[in-house]
Amino acid sequence: MRYGRKASARAAVKALRAFVDGNKWRQRKGRYVPLHYIHGITGVRGYDVIVVGAGPGGSTAALTAAEAGMKVLVLERSRYPAEKNAGGFALSSKAWRDFPFITGLELPSMRKGTQCVAHFLSPPPEMEERFCIASGPSGRMSYPEAREFFTVTMLRREFDRFLADKAEEAGAEVKFTSLVTGLAKDADNIAGVLLEGGDEYRAPVVIGADGVMSQTARLAGLRDKWRPDEVISACAVDYSASRERLDDVVHEANFQAYFGPGMGGNYLMCYADCVHIGGPGVTNSLISRVSRTRIKPARELLETIQAPPVQRLLRAVDAVPREFHVHCVPWKDSMSDDVCAGGLMLVGDAAGLPEPLWAEGVWQAMYSGRLAAQVAREAIGEDDVSAASLARYLDRLRESPVAREFVGGAQLRRLFEVLGDPRAAGEMTEMMVDLTVNMFMSGQEPKAQTVARAVPILMENLPVLMKLLGIYVPMIQEAGGELPPQLAALGGMGALFGAAGGEEPQR
Ligand SMILES: Cc1cc2nc3c(=O)[nH]c(=O)nc-3n(C[C@H](O)[C@H](O)[C@H](O)COP(=O)(O)OP(=O)(O)OC[C@H]3O[C@@H](n4cnc5c(N)ncnc54)[C@H](O)[C@@H]3O)c2cc1C
Repeated sequence: MRYGRKASARAAVKALRAFVDGNKWRQRKGRYVPLHYIHGITGVRGYDVIVVGAGPGGSTAALTAAEAGMKVLVLERSRYPAEKNAGGFALSSKAWRDFPFITGLELPSMRKGTQCVAHFLSPPPEMEERFCIASGPSGRMSYPEAREFFTVTMLRREFDRFLADKAEEAGAEVKFTSLVTGLAKDADNIAGVLLEGGDEYRAPVVIGADGVMSQTARLAGLRDKWRPDEVISACAVDYSASRERLDDVVHEANFQAYFGPGMGGNYLMCYADCVHIGGPGVTNSLISRVSRTRIKPARELLETIQAPPVQRLLRAVDAVPREFHVHCVPWKDSMSDDVCAGGLMLVGDAAGLPEPLWAEGVWQAMYSGRLAAQVAREAIGEDDVSAASLARYLDRLRESPVAREFVGGAQLRRLFEVLGDPRAAGEMTEMMVDLTVNMFMSGQEPKAQTVARAVPILMENLPVLMKLLGIYVPMIQEAGGELPPQLAALGGMGALFGAAGGEEPQR
């Protein structure tokens, strides 16, 4: 296509737009020409990459893309980062391994976690402490940060603000109060977004980082909604608390969980000056799924909050409730395939990436956001943002540690089904009390009598223990681990006890 000297400016712009939309300009030049440069001439508000959502996934994608020299626009529906996430979260040490820019990060709400505590309670209504495991990080972990601490807990509004600021400092434009309601398309690819109010922005690549209810996934036809077994609603109560008391009482045991007969493993996280108790615990959620009974997350959470050990802790740190919130989170036991289309990649919750046990999802969102931005840079440079070209994003996700978190996902859930068997959980808790506390710490009975009590419990719960083997062994095998033949055979026997069959657990 050629323009005569006398062609009107309007006709030239129209023709240029056609070039841009057909990606012909860059093909003809045979080199990477930033699209925003072309859009600058045509008057269309154009970018190289548009990111929908300024959560951890979106801001990390924007930061990576901006650092690579691309023109990036982030559109966030809220008035400020993490407006919907009133509470806080625990960020695992692997984020410090993988994202050097958070090294040395200090936020007012941060509390480092060098202790994890699992409390095993007696059944309701008593719910007293029966057995407790507290542990520091293992020296056998595969990277230095993991040997030093488990997690750092902090408020989302501080962390998400930090990430959005980093993206802006790197050159990304971040617009708040900008609800994306539509996608612009050219012949085959997504080519931009439409905002509530009618504004339109164009870019060859859109990164959908818009969370669990992703509009971009739906509008692109990748997913209508999650199946009921792929998503969970989680509720939490946040308390303000005394920083000094938390330092004394909790110190660095920032993550604690409560288990027990019929209890779901609700968790308690402590930040610098607040406490967050969340649920439903994974156990009961899974049981409800298998047995198709309805769980009542709020009631279960309340039960845990009312348990005497939890009440004592809350009193000791002067905790005052300040917020109750309920959110959905994707909760899949395998990784989704539907994470990209022509001109579009989904990251974080939008892609269903939280890991299958505790639904940890912030590191996953950051990791996938960075991968998507790297793929965007390559694909734009090659002038090919088609579905086939962006499919490399899925390939890289599959090769990444994000995918490795899903190895054994299905088996892990079975593990919780077994542990959630109220009778077995109750008996085995008492057996552990006998074999540890009563054996080594109390002189109340002859030791032989104490140990002998374990035998009938072991015999009665042999099927449950065999089920556990039937879970662990295939998990190790799926991860490619070597097993001695005897253990592999025992694992096979364990499967016969029903762990792999997914039958309804005993109640
Ligand atoms: C109760 C609870 C506790 C959790 N605890 C932890 C934890 O301790 N550790 C952990 O790692 N994970 C935790 N998770 C999971 C974690 O919150 C998510 O996996 C994580 O937030 C995913 O990040 P994201 O960037 O993909 O999405 P989000 O954080 O959900 O961000 C999406 C952003 O997109 C915006 N948006 C949505 N739609 C649009 C639109 N149409 N237009 C413009 N903007 C839009 C939203 O406002 C939001 O800011 C928890 C989840 C819940 C529910």
